[in-house]
Amino acid sequence: MSQRHRIAVIPGDGIGREVVPEGLRCLRAAADAHGFALDFVEYGFACAGYWQRHGEMLPSDWRDVLGGFDAIFFGAVGWPEVVPDHVSLWGSLLRFRRGFDQYVNLRPVRLLRGVRSPLRDHGPGDIDFVVVRENTEGEYSSIGGRIFEGTDRETVLQETVLTRTGVDRVLRYAFELAATRPRKRLTWATKSNGIAIAMPYWDERATAMAERYPDVVASKDHIDILAAKFVLRPGQYDVVVAGNLFGDILSDLGPACAGTIGIAPSANINPDRTWPSLFEPVHGSAPDIAGRGIANPVGQIWSGAMMLEHLGETAAAAAVVAAIERVLAGRPDVHTPDLGGSGTTESLGAAIAAEITREQ
Ligand code: ATP
Ligand code: MG
Repeated sequence: MSQRHRIAVIPGDGIGREVVPEGLRCLRAAADAHGFALDFVEYGFACAGYWQRHGEMLPSDWRDVLGGFDAIFFGAVGWPEVVPDHVSLWGSLLRFRRGFDQYVNLRPVRLLRGVRSPLRDHGPGDIDFVVVRENTEGEYSSIGGRIFEGTDRETVLQETVLTRTGVDRVLRYAFELAATRPRKRLTWATKSNGIAIAMPYWDERATAMAERYPDVVASKDHIDILAAKFVLRPGQYDVVVAGNLFGDILSDLGPACAGTIGIAPSANINPDRTWPSLFEPVHGSAPDIAGRGIANPVGQIWSGAMMLEHLGETAAAAAVVAAIERVLAGRPDVHTPDLGGSGTTESLGAAIAAEITREQ
C-alpha cells in the first residue's frame, strides 16, 4: 500500500531559496524510486520579504496553517539588511520549536569520504556521532532581570529552568536512540562540578535513566573536557545528550569537526508526534554567497533524509544518505566551492538525485 505524506515547505531567505529546490528534487527522486507520495505545499512566510510586507514573520494563524502537516521542510531564515537576526529568528523558527513542542534537536555528525575534516589525522569513518540537544528549556529562559540599574550595585539574574518532564523526555529519547546504534554508547554533558544546583539534578536524572537501559554504556563528561575531546578524540563518541546551552554549542562544534557547515543536517523533533517536526540544514541563510548558485545543498538534502526516516520511509532515507556519500566520494567535478570544487548548487543536487534514481 503506498503512503502519502503531506509536507509544508518553507524556503525562507538567502541560500535557503537555492538549496530547498535541490532538497525537493532529491526527495521526489526518493519517493518515485521507493513507491510513496510526497505532497509539498510551499509557504512564503518566515522570510524578510514577508516581514517587509506585514511587519511580522508569520501570519497569526500559523499554527492552524502548519499544524496538520506530517513534517516541515525548512531552508534558512535571516536577512539582516532588512530585519535584525534576533527578530527574524524569534519571530519564526523559535516559535515553531516551542509552539510545536519540538523538544529534541538532533544533529548527526559523520565524516564522509570526499570531505576534508579540519581535524588532522581524522579520515572517513573516524567520526560518527549524534548530538541530542534539549530544545525548549534550561538556560534559555526569559526569567530574570536587572536590579539596581545604573548604580554600582547593578545586578543581573537569569534563571535556568529544568523540569523533570523536560529533562526526562530528552534523556529518554537519547537513550532510546543509543540503544538502536551498534556501539550503544551514550555520553551526557554536564558541569556539576561548577553549576551546583541545576547540573547535579541533570546528572541525577541521567543516572536514573541509565538504570533503565542496561544495554547502553552511559557516562558523563564535563562540558569543558567534552568540547576538547570533540576535537582531539571525536571517534569515542556515539550519542551525546546535552541541555539547551551546552547542546547549542556542541551541535555547532560537532558538525564543524566533520568538515564544511554546508553538509550538516538537523532535525527539530516532536517525538510524541502531537505536532509536526521540522527539518533544516545547520547552516543559515549565508547572505555572503546568496544569489550566486554556489551554496552546498547537501545539508538540506541530508535533512530531507532525516525527514524521510521520521516519516517511516527508512529505505528511502538510507538511499538518500548513500547517494550523498557516493557523490561526495566519487564526483569531485560537482563539488561546490566550500568542498574545494567548482560545481554549483544545481549540479551537485542533480547528481545526488540521479544517484538516488540510478541506485534503485
Ligand atoms: P545562523 O544565523 O543561522 O546561525 P550564520 O548567519 O551565523 O547562521 P551562515 O549563514 O550559516 O551563518 O553562514 C556562515 C558561513 O558559512 C558563511 O560564510 C557562509 O557563506 C558559509 N555557508 C553557510 N552555508 C553554506 C552552504 N550551504 N554552502 C557553502 N557555504 C555555506
Ligand atoms: Mg545568519
